[in-house]
Amino acid sequence: MTAEVIYGSELAQSMRDQMKDEVSKLREKGVVPGLTVILIGEDPASKSYVLGKQKASNYVGVDSDLISLPESTPEKELLDLIDQLNQKESVHGILVQLPLPDHIDEQKVIEAISAEKDVDGFHPINIGRMMTGKDTFFPCTPYGIIQMMKSKEISLEGKHAVIIGRSNIVGKPVGQLLLNENATVTYCHSRTKDMEKFIQEADILIVAVGKTHFVNGDHIKEGAVVIDVGVNRVEDGSLTGDVDFESAKQKASYITPVPKGVGPMTITMLLHNTIKSAKKANDIQNV
Ligand code: NAP
Repeated sequence: MTAEVIYGSELAQSMRDQMKDEVSKLREKGVVPGLTVILIGEDPASKSYVLGKQKASNYVGVDSDLISLPESTPEKELLDLIDQLNQKESVHGILVQLPLPDHIDEQKVIEAISAEKDVDGFHPINIGRMMTGKDTFFPCTPYGIIQMMKSKEISLEGKHAVIIGRSNIVGKPVGQLLLNENATVTYCHSRTKDMEKFIQEADILIVAVGKTHFVNGDHIKEGAVVIDVGVNRVEDGSLTGDVDFESAKQKASYITPVPKGVGPMTITMLLHNTIKSAKKANDIQNV
């Protein structure tokens, strides 16, 4: 079997085109979705993610504001700024680019953002809503992964989904969203024994570890859906995923590439959440 490749880049583009139409209709009604991104320090990867978010916001017509602060910014100053943005009507989404410098408590910052403006979907209230099966802002990477599978009409119900990685931003929430879709979910992590056994059983395999070619085609079940979340920079400067694409492609029914896979969907779902927040703040169901 040779897998069909799911290009997140293509789905992201078509979703952004739809959002562009939606935002222009919202603007006609006087509603301008606004996203404020806070970047602390000079980390090149964070800077590049933030630029990507701004570019995509501009494309769809979301008003995007970047606040860049020095690495030495005191925690209190950041919390005060978030408090001001929480009050500001023109701001519908607040995103603090992670990771933060060591002297700032990440969880405190996440919890300082109003749950109504938490377009990253990391606030405990939104996580709780997701866990109880309620509509909310879902974390962007997991939400994007679900959209990719739905775009190919991949049925999730009753499927055994195996997730390698249990981070708060990818592994855990993607498992929860799959459970909400009636999949049977297994989490693997660094203490899991006999991981190959779980990989072999996976109808849907999601790999979010951060290690180049952590999984290859050897153990993948024939016909599995393989979603590669990893983004790893290799020696020649190019990007690779956590899955050995060429060998896995021979076994899988669907597979996502790196780059042009999950990455573009993450930003797209951030825009989706920002527009959703703007509609909610203005009591608009449909445009
Ligand atoms: P993370 O917080 O570092 O978590 C990595 C997870 O992998 C942990 O749960 C860890 O287990 C597990 N792990 C590490 N070594 C393992 C091993 N030998 N066997 C089994 N499990 C192992 O990473 P993350 O933030 O979830 O990101 C994962 C990857 O996805 C990274 O490459 C990141 O760049 C990428 N990413 C991509 C996007 C996107 O939009 N495309 C978004 C977010 C992240 P323990 O919990 O036991 O330590």
